[in-house]
Amino acid sequence: MKFAEVVQTADWKTEKHVPVIVAPKTVKAGEKFVVEVSVGKEIAHPNTTEHHIRSILLCFKPEAGKFAYEVGSFEFSAHAESVEGPNKGPIITEPVAQVVLKLAGSGTLLAVAYCNIHGLWESFQEIKVEA
Ligand code: FE
Repeated sequence: MKFAEVVQTADWKTEKHVPVIVAPKTVKAGEKFVVEVSVGKEIAHPNTTEHHIRSILLCFKPEAGKFAYEVGSFEFSAHAESVEGPNKGPIITEPVAQVVLKLAGSGTLLAVAYCNIHGLWESFQEIKVEA
């Protein structure tokens, strides 16, 4: 068994679980830029105590190199839990995260989102680095 056998993917415009990576297509080497990862950008995913997106892992695989690097790991912890009961709590974390990155060379950002009942979903976005 491999992760590849259980991590699902699809077009994020039609499947609500697929993480959406918003990043520039082209950046300059060593210059800061913002990347946003989220779930539910086009079609909202439920965000309840029973059913929610719990985390997104963002990685980078350089074109020149064999290994992927972890960029950030984002936990979305509040889903209206409360002593009053499920969905009665005062706070909900939306599954959206932003990071500021600098790249030395071109490569691919990869994201994996985890839904507490529908498992793992992935997507990717290539970034070109101009010297
Ligand atoms: Fe789900």
